[in-house]
Amino acid sequence: MHTIRKKPYNDLNSYLREIFGGKVYKITIDSGLTCPNRVNGSGCIYCNERGSGTGLLKKGYNIEAQIRLGIEGLRRKYKKIDAFIAYFQSYTNTYAPLSILKINWDIIRNFPEIQGISIGTRPDCIDHDRLELLNEFAPNYKVFLELGLQSINEEHLKWVGRGHTVKEFENAVSMIKQYPFNIIVHLIFGFPNQDIREITKTALYLSHLGIQGVKIHLLYVAKGSPLQKIYEMGHFKPVDKDIYIEMVYAFLEHLNPEVVIHRLTGDAHRGELIAPLWSADKSGILSEIKTKLKDNESFQGKRFMNLSSKTINSCIHA
Ligand code: SF4
Repeated sequence: MHTIRKKPYNDLNSYLREIFGGKVYKITIDSGLTCPNRVNGSGCIYCNERGSGTGLLKKGYNIEAQIRLGIEGLRRKYKKIDAFIAYFQSYTNTYAPLSILKINWDIIRNFPEIQGISIGTRPDCIDHDRLELLNEFAPNYKVFLELGLQSINEEHLKWVGRGHTVKEFENAVSMIKQYPFNIIVHLIFGFPNQDIREITKTALYLSHLGIQGVKIHLLYVAKGSPLQKIYEMGHFKPVDKDIYIEMVYAFLEHLNPEVVIHRLTGDAHRGELIAPLWSADKSGILSEIKTKLKDNESFQGKRFMNLSSKTINSCIHA
């Protein structure tokens, strides 16, 4: 059982060290797929044409070249690396015919230093065939499935144009749970009118669902996204830094300590951040979150552990 009592939260590096027995780095891959939400609509309002990715494919680097580039770059930067995880990040990485997905994913088999595969996708792009294909990696690789939920509030999902519901997310999670995959849920904090109550409810909901990891992003305005226009028209105000830190703090206190924290804030690609400018200081934000936990003698799960299942259930369904 993973314990975080001595640490403020169950951080990813410690978890990876525990699983892989050493220092692990991720290589982000842009496999050139797209996303149903962009094909059938205008996409999520915070997403720009890079689809949260590196854009390397358009620059002429195929998947194999991106992996080589990633490995070489990381080896130059860090002396000790024990393993790599191939992270298929851009757009929706299960949104393609199975034959294409197989070709894309099989490329990692050419690199013995890769020991994990992580697939970023949407709840409405999960099905039995895709999970079976991914399961072919399970005997030799640690498999992570990163699923965008973003919010448990249907109004927020509609406002950002996610194009899926919370129910679809739950259906996807129950399908994925049939496999030995690590489910990582992506969340966004900073929606208009989002309050601490909603944040704590989200933490309890995910704790109850039995997922393995979370990635928290701030709702920031990226250059070229529909949200940029909304922001410039004065119809969106990014959350203040103090409130964001308060949200993350409350989330951690109400989250099952077994859930691994993959990220506590997200930053835009270089040159793409429009607002809020404070979000560019990622390490400063992390340090403020840790300081707040320390000053209050708090840690991940502090409040969660004192709640009965009955109370958790009634909070989730309130
Ligand atoms: S699901 Fe992802 S890639 Fe698709 S529009 Fe939304 S943020 Fe962009």
